[in-house]
Amino acid sequence: MEHKLTVYNTLTRKKELFKPINPPHVGMYVCGPTVYGDPHLGHARPAITFDILFRYLTHLGYKVRYVRNITDVGHLEHDADDGEDKIAKKARLSQQEPMEVAHYYTLSYHKAMEALNVLSPSIEPQASGHIIEQIGLIKEILAAGYAYESGGSIYFDVNKYNIDHHYGVLSGRNLDDVLNATRELEGQEEKRNPSDFALWKKAQPEHIMRWPSPWSDGFPGWHCECTAMGRKYLGERFDIHGGGMDLIFPHHECEIAQAVAAQGHDMVNYWIHNNMITINGQKMGKSLGNFITLNEFFTGNNENLQQPYSPMTIRFFILMSHYRGTVDFSNEALQAAEKAMNRLLEAYSAIDHIVPAAESTVNIKEFTAKCYEAMNDDLNTPITISHLFDAAKVINQAVDGNTQLTGSDVGEMRFLFDTFLFDILGIRPEYGGESGREEVFGRVVDMLLEQRSAAKAAKDWAVSDKIRDELAALGFEIKDTKDGTTWKLNLK
Ligand code: ZN
Repeated sequence: MEHKLTVYNTLTRKKELFKPINPPHVGMYVCGPTVYGDPHLGHARPAITFDILFRYLTHLGYKVRYVRNITDVGHLEHDADDGEDKIAKKARLSQQEPMEVAHYYTLSYHKAMEALNVLSPSIEPQASGHIIEQIGLIKEILAAGYAYESGGSIYFDVNKYNIDHHYGVLSGRNLDDVLNATRELEGQEEKRNPSDFALWKKAQPEHIMRWPSPWSDGFPGWHCECTAMGRKYLGERFDIHGGGMDLIFPHHECEIAQAVAAQGHDMVNYWIHNNMITINGQKMGKSLGNFITLNEFFTGNNENLQQPYSPMTIRFFILMSHYRGTVDFSNEALQAAEKAMNRLLEAYSAIDHIVPAAESTVNIKEFTAKCYEAMNDDLNTPITISHLFDAAKVINQAVDGNTQLTGSDVGEMRFLFDTFLFDILGIRPEYGGESGREEVFGRVVDMLLEQRSAAKAAKDWAVSDKIRDELAALGFEIKDTKDGTTWKLNLK
C-alpha cells in the first residue's frame, strides 16, 4: 500500500512510519468508557481521535478491526486497587442492578457518539462478558511466576517482573518513582510491595459484582480486561493500542507488564495517546464546578454555557487542535469554531454556483496533495483544516468570478471536501440534536427568502408574493430592511 503515514509512538517516543504486521489488515484496540455516568467532554476526545485514525486507515485501503471496550466491572473509585467499584456504587445509590447502570450509560454513550459522528468500532466487548479470558490470563501470569496469591486475591509481582524486564517502559518511570508515589496509600497490607497491582480481588461480603475463580469469589483487576480482550480479538501481537494520556500510567504500563509476563513479549507495536481537555484553563472535574456533559453542550443546559453547541461544533473544535496538544474549551473558542466550520460548509455549498471556465488559474490538485501530507504527518488535522480554508477562499473567489476553474477542477474541489472534510474528518453538514434541527430549519427559511429576493429582482411578483403570503400564513413575520430580509416565527 502506497502511503507515508507516520504516527507518534509513545513507547519509542518518536514518530514512526506506520507498518502493519499483516497488511492490509490492521488491529487496533482503544480503551473505551467506564459506564457509570453521563458521557462528557473527556469521552469525546479519545473517541474522536481514534475515529480519525480508524477513518484515515480505512481511507488508505486498510481493513481495520477496531476493538473498543466497555468497562463495566473492576474500575474502582481510587484507581489503585482500592475503594468501591464505580458501577456498583452508582447501582447502590440509584437502587439498580449494576448491569442496569452499565446498560443505561452504554446506551447514552452510543447516542452521544452517534451525534458526534464517531463510527462504531468493529467489536465492542464488555469486561463482564470476558471473566473467563481474564482468569485465563491471570493463570498464565501465575504460572510464569510473576504473580502471587494473598488472602484470596492475586497480585502482580512488580519487583520480580522488574528484575527480568523493565517496569515503566511506556511511562518512562522507574520502580523507585512508582514506589515513592504509592507508599502513602492504605489497604496495602496484602501486597508484598506497594507498587504491586491486583489481577484478581476477593470480593468483600457486601460486594455484589462477583464471579467464581480458583482463588476466591471476586472480580478481575481493571488492567486485566484490555490485555485479555485485546489478545482474544486481535491476537498475541497487534498493531495499535490507543487511549487518553491519563491512561499511560498505571493502566497501559500494567497492560504491557501483564502481556510480557504472560507471553514473553508485548502485544502492541504502536502505542498512541491523545492529550487531555481543559475548561477555561482548568482540569474538568465534578468538584471544580466546571463539569459539562455532552448532552449539556448539545442543549446549552449548563450555567457555564452561553448557548447550545451542535455536536459538529464540538467535533470540529477538537479537530482544530492536534491530538497530542491540549484543548481548552471556552464559549469564545467554541463560537469561533462554529463560525469557522460554517465558513467551510458554506464554501462547499457554493461550489454549485461556480461557472466553469476554459482554463484554471489555480492548481487544485495541490490542495489534495497538501491535505494528504498533513494527515500523513501524525494525523495533523489542524493543518488539514487550514488547507481546506485556503481551498474555501478559492471557491469564493471563483464564485465571484475573480478566479477561473475548469469543470474538472470544480469536480476536484468537490472531491477534496467530500474526502477530507466529510469522510476523513467526519464532519457532516446536518447536525443531530435540538440545536442542530433549529439550525437546519433556519437555513431552509433563509433559502426560501433567497428565492423570494431572486423573484423580486426578476420582477416575478406572483412568486415573491406567494412565498411571503404562505410564510405569513404559517406565522412568519417577515421584514424587508435596507440590509436585507429578517424573519421571526410567531407560533400561536
Ligand atoms: Zn484499557
